[in-house]
Amino acid sequence: MTPATYTLPELTGASDADLARAFDAILHSLSREAHDVETPEQLEHFRVRWFGDKAGLINKGAASFVRLAHDKRLAGNTFKQVKESAEQLYSELTSTIQRTDLLSKKLGATLADDRASASIDLTLPGTRRSIGVEHPLTRTMREMTAVFAALGYSVRVGPEVETDFYNFEALNFPPNHPARDTQDTLVVAGQEAKPLRERLLMRTHTSPVQIRSMVANAPPLRIVIPGKVHRNDESDATHSPIFHQVEGLCVDTDITFSDLKGTLDYAMKAFFGSSVKTRFFPSYFPFTEPSADVQISCPFCGGKGCRKCKHSGWIELLGCGMVNPAVFAAVDARRIENGLEPAYDTKKISGFAFGMGVERIAMMKYGVGDIGQFYSGDLRFLNQF
Ligand SMILES: [Zn+2]
Repeated sequence: MTPATYTLPELTGASDADLARAFDAILHSLSREAHDVETPEQLEHFRVRWFGDKAGLINKGAASFVRLAHDKRLAGNTFKQVKESAEQLYSELTSTIQRTDLLSKKLGATLADDRASASIDLTLPGTRRSIGVEHPLTRTMREMTAVFAALGYSVRVGPEVETDFYNFEALNFPPNHPARDTQDTLVVAGQEAKPLRERLLMRTHTSPVQIRSMVANAPPLRIVIPGKVHRNDESDATHSPIFHQVEGLCVDTDITFSDLKGTLDYAMKAFFGSSVKTRFFPSYFPFTEPSADVQISCPFCGGKGCRKCKHSGWIELLGCGMVNPAVFAAVDARRIENGLEPAYDTKKISGFAFGMGVERIAMMKYGVGDIGQFYSGDLRFLNQF
């Protein structure tokens, strides 16, 4: 930096021209000195020299010119402009210096890092990145799905926000069925203006995908449907407002209850081990007729009785049944609405459907006591799998 050499000019006269020359000289010198400022320290020196309250060349020196001027108002205005230009220049200079200083500090740090990295001991063990594994629910759902995929079932998925038609009406739920009540179903707000069948809700089971698949495809149909469902349930050890299901549907000519029993017996053996037995009890679902609950012999104690099977030797695992003709009728009606040929004439075809809760199976399989642990995201829990 060249030493600051400028000093205030002696005013030779007090004419307007003299003043203008003096102000010009001030700005010119200010700008020349600014050009030489390179460090924050030099900047501070520059600030005190030009803008200091007591001895600053602008405030003390240039202001004194005004007092000598003939036309003090004109000189005052000129001084104001000079001061503004000077301050503008100073503020630009300040940001430049700050930027440069920051850059050089960063550069210094980078150089220091480089020097440090040169001394890293390459023989030390590195930071190990953990390999992710499937969530126990995802794994259970995939394993269940895979059993049916191996039987020739194709995997189907569908929307979680459904219409009343696909979730209830087509599945033979009467309009006043308790499942349609908001006590059990989470409905989308502001749907009252629509006809009931068009109203949106969070699907309460994966069965709407069965309807969608049948509306879109004529039989034969063999599909397995994994997915997330929603119920207006309080969370407790065995309930969660969100859980998962795997459902299946088989429609073809000459499908009988024996096919249903054989398929599920095979699937349970494939999933839990070849020694498990299955047994069927009459049950009721609106969408199947006849309907059944399926129990499997406890895979943990071989049927002798243990804590997991509540010492009964049997565990209730899924619901199933022969597809209710009313469901086929609703499907065909929708196919006609969509401009398709009806394809589900119950004189020619029949079918079975089944469904199971993924959480329930995973809890049993892995001995999990609280359903909430699956959703906790707690690595201490998840690391066990
Ligand atoms: Zn048992």
